[in-house]
Amino acid sequence: MQEFFTDSIQKLKDFEEFMSTPKKIVITTHQNPDADALGSALGMWGYLNKKGHRPTVITPTDYPDFLRWMDGEPTVINFEGSRQSEAIQLIAEADGIFCLDFSVLNRIKSMEEYVKQSAAKILLIDHHQRPEGFADFVYWNEHAAATCELIYQFIEKLNDTALVDTSIAECLYAGLMTDTGSFRFDSTSKEVHRIAGELINRGIEVNRLHRKIFDSNSFERMQFLGYCLNKMNYLPEYRVAYFVVSKEELEQFHSKNGDTEGIVNYGLSIKDVVMSAIFVERDDLIKISFRSIEDFSVSELSRDHFDGGGHKNAAGGRSQKSLQETVDKFLGLLPTYKDKLLAN
Ligand code: 5GP
Ligand code: MN
Repeated sequence: MQEFFTDSIQKLKDFEEFMSTPKKIVITTHQNPDADALGSALGMWGYLNKKGHRPTVITPTDYPDFLRWMDGEPTVINFEGSRQSEAIQLIAEADGIFCLDFSVLNRIKSMEEYVKQSAAKILLIDHHQRPEGFADFVYWNEHAAATCELIYQFIEKLNDTALVDTSIAECLYAGLMTDTGSFRFDSTSKEVHRIAGELINRGIEVNRLHRKIFDSNSFERMQFLGYCLNKMNYLPEYRVAYFVVSKEELEQFHSKNGDTEGIVNYGLSIKDVVMSAIFVERDDLIKISFRSIEDFSVSELSRDHFDGGGHKNAAGGRSQKSLQETVDKFLGLLPTYKDKLLAN
């Protein structure tokens, strides 16, 4: 099996030494947390509680309702919510800050400055490309399918898998399931299935869990999806599909946080499409999601042109330009990428 530590075994020992007495730990993850982000955070939260530490999960922003079933979720502090001053104090007083499922600090939005100021030891567990060097301890592998996979391995390294109960297993399985597209993306390795098997052994109900996440749409959300599919753009000459969603449209469908999640994937379900994108007009910026197949790297495209990054086949980015200008920029780039797009 591949060795996943990017740091030395000595570092693991140092980490164990650091955690050998009860610690105040802030666990955080990227903005607009998805199931891998919140699942890894709450899985870690459950584990740390069992180890006698005092963990708190603080998310940079709110997250979708379909994640609200996770054990410990009611204790999560949304940094943009009413408990911000408490969150700032927790960060300042933390012994350790665990950064899960992101590799660059700008993904925690306004929490970034407080994390930078803190004297806490930082642990990074992540699978995104190009991690910034902000952590004292690093458990990172860009080939891992999900951060939840790495969390399980990390607990294994610490010889603590006996502490993984059904609640922790549910959180970790959720991240594994969603980041692999229900176990179908290229990242779905033997290791993913091994860990999924270990988690199922803890008594989780696979179908119920899948339904909690994927079959919990509101009627309005399905209508919104239908609307988006209707106005999807398709450029067969580039093998590209893309969606454009304005603020007015979000309002028209009473769209909630997370409602646009997953829509981008539908572009790839058209035969021969190599890249799909969605441009969503948020209050302060245009948020972009990219998906691709095979060798076409959307993380590269996003990093080079849209201040973003992520994984080869799933990446995100942002733009401060207007919605139309952002889409025009994207369309303007396509001729440059045509050869690569058609090579797949
Ligand atoms: P999504 O499109 O679902 O928001 O994100 C796809 C992948 O790219 C996820 O792994 C996500 O964490 C990552 N990602 C999304 N937005 C950004 C961004 O602005 N910067 C970076 N570095 N990664 C991003
Ligand atoms: Mn992830």
